[in-house]
Amino acid sequence: MAKKIAIAIDGPAGAGKSTIARRLAAELGYCYVDTGAIYRTVAYFLDLLGISPKDADGVARYLDELTVSITYDEEGKQHMIMNGMDVTEDIRTQEISQKASLVSANPLVREMLLDLQRDMAKEYNVIMDGRDIGTVVLPRAKVKIFLTASPEVRAKRRTAELEAKGQTANYEKVLKEIQQRDYQDSHRAIAPLKQAKDAVKVDTSELDIDGVVATIRKIVEGKIGQ
Ligand code: C5P
Repeated sequence: MAKKIAIAIDGPAGAGKSTIARRLAAELGYCYVDTGAIYRTVAYFLDLLGISPKDADGVARYLDELTVSITYDEEGKQHMIMNGMDVTEDIRTQEISQKASLVSANPLVREMLLDLQRDMAKEYNVIMDGRDIGTVVLPRAKVKIFLTASPEVRAKRRTAELEAKGQTANYEKVLKEIQQRDYQDSHRAIAPLKQAKDAVKVDTSELDIDGVVATIRKIVEGKIGQ
């Protein structure tokens, strides 16, 4: 099997990673892997059982009963399968965002999800987005991007996104949650959110989607010549 190419896109919540990575994957014919959705699936599973994401003993007790897998539909959309059940839409709430951030600090959880992510990159050319893709999951990724934007811009985007889905969203509350998640994600002991040494930083605060895609595409072309 020919060696696959990996593009890692890391960054804080709401920087535009998934929108950009999805677009780029479609343009390049790569498989898009949203790794945040995997952590969300774990958080959702524990939530259904009434286990707090901070309860390390509870998490350890039930983790063996969880099987997480990823499938893609005809349109290339990623679906999250939790013990055979499609939970793709259920994991997209603010509550699960917070719980995913808390449970993702658990070393057992991170360890359990590592192979799933690495196996995807062995099988396909991937654009994988997350927090630790360039630093831990795929340290030898051919291209590494660190996508960021000011907390205010990210909160504005997230609020609009939630509203578009018909969920009620309050900007101040979303901003606070984003700041809290930034703090949790970048201060955890294991695989914290940080820019890999060899990643290119792209600040999307002043750019629209087309601008970001064009910028990253240029970086990708420079590194892999497509
Ligand atoms: O990207 P998304 O907002 O869906 O991620 C939800 C949470 O999952 C993040 O706040 C982060 O704590 C965790 N996560 C992680 N490592 C990744 C992707 C997501 O710890 N590679």
